[in-house]
Amino acid sequence: MTARLAPPERAPGRVPARVGQRYLVRTFGCQMNEHDSERVAGLFAADGMTVAVSVEDADVVFLNTCCIRENADDRLYGTLGHLKAAKRQRPGLRIVVGGCLAQKDRDLVRRRAPWVDVVFGTHNLHRVLDLLDHADEWGPITEILESSAEADAFSADLPSRRELDHAAWVTITVGCNNACTFCIVPIVRGPEVSRRPGEIIEEVGRLAADGVVEVTLLGQNVNSYGRDLGVDGRHRPVFAELLRRVGEVPGIRRVRFTSPHPKDMREDVARAMAETTAVCEHLHLPLQSGSARILRAMHRGYTPRRFLDRLEMMRRIVPGLAVTTDVIVGFPGETESDFRATLEVMEEARFDGAYMFIYSPRPGTPAAAMEGQVAPEVAAERFSRLADLQQEMSLSRNRELVGGEVEVLTEGPSRKDPSMATARTRTNKVVHLPGEFPPGTFLRARLERAAPSHLIGRAVP
Ligand code: SF4
Repeated sequence: MTARLAPPERAPGRVPARVGQRYLVRTFGCQMNEHDSERVAGLFAADGMTVAVSVEDADVVFLNTCCIRENADDRLYGTLGHLKAAKRQRPGLRIVVGGCLAQKDRDLVRRRAPWVDVVFGTHNLHRVLDLLDHADEWGPITEILESSAEADAFSADLPSRRELDHAAWVTITVGCNNACTFCIVPIVRGPEVSRRPGEIIEEVGRLAADGVVEVTLLGQNVNSYGRDLGVDGRHRPVFAELLRRVGEVPGIRRVRFTSPHPKDMREDVARAMAETTAVCEHLHLPLQSGSARILRAMHRGYTPRRFLDRLEMMRRIVPGLAVTTDVIVGFPGETESDFRATLEVMEEARFDGAYMFIYSPRPGTPAAAMEGQVAPEVAAERFSRLADLQQEMSLSRNRELVGGEVEVLTEGPSRKDPSMATARTRTNKVVHLPGEFPPGTFLRARLERAAPSHLIGRAVP
């Protein structure tokens, strides 16, 4: 199972990514479950999928469970037993277990049926496509939210509804031309395809007219954007140019992007960030490992030194840049000394935050067949050392901001304390501040206290 600190968010409104796939929904429960199943089916349909007639015909099987009805768990585990054989024959089949039994018995489901790809609870039905993406890319995932705040965002029209009215995601590329050995994306999504810049600018213009002030440009490798365009002597757009154009759309005050690839990170992107007012000072630059040997085995296309040099270049050109990253722990063949090299790079890089994962093999990827798979307990122990280090780094980064004033954009009441509002800085840091402010309000905030994952501030005139 993949461990992680915080799953990357991806909002609804994405371009359909599973066109041609088929789904099957089985519901073991009450009418509430039936209704939830309809909504999940709606999301699958919005993502381009059609209904399968049987398990043999399905790419995704969703089992919606109930812990109230008698025998629901017997029926669930019986069905999962049948699905085990199907999964063995077709490793690409995705098995998803949701609903209240999953919410309650997440560990039991995992233990009794380790071939399940996604286990999720009653409060995160709306995340099913993101979780499936995660399973494709990283392996099995369990995500159970204890609060119902996110579930409130779920409604019948969700597939086309934004989580926040003022912020939207805009896909600029799909697929990937790289061949990272741990990643299934190139296999399941195919080569990179860029959307035409005109089409993207038009979409951003429409969003702005609809009240959106912040857009996040999405792709597997955003900074290789445009390489497939410009054939036949036509102008070939590059990512830096797209950033500038999106930043000039009237009404758009914040532009973000995720994720760029370190090997493709060039000065032109840094200059576009620094010279386009709307482009935010935040960069998510996935390191993955700090060991040159492991990076080579991952086919990442850079060394730790090169990564650090590019990071230095970005920080030099973009003042106040905050940087977050992804790291995989326990990649096949990772020794204690490889892992220490990762810790050293993390210390030198001083990231503002990191998504950290324990490696989990994805069938069909080269890394899954590599020798030297790391024992789970060794990987878990390394993960906890890495997480401890990153906590310290994140806290120290955030403390550097205390006493300063920044622009924040509000997102609504804090989930933990409704007397506080949650907002985000341009550098993508979460700030909680007392008071009620409608989502989408720009404020000046004085930062007063720091924690590893957020800051506490106060609105100032
Ligand atoms: S660049 Fe990203 S999406 Fe592409 S193969 Fe590597 S990890 Fe996967």
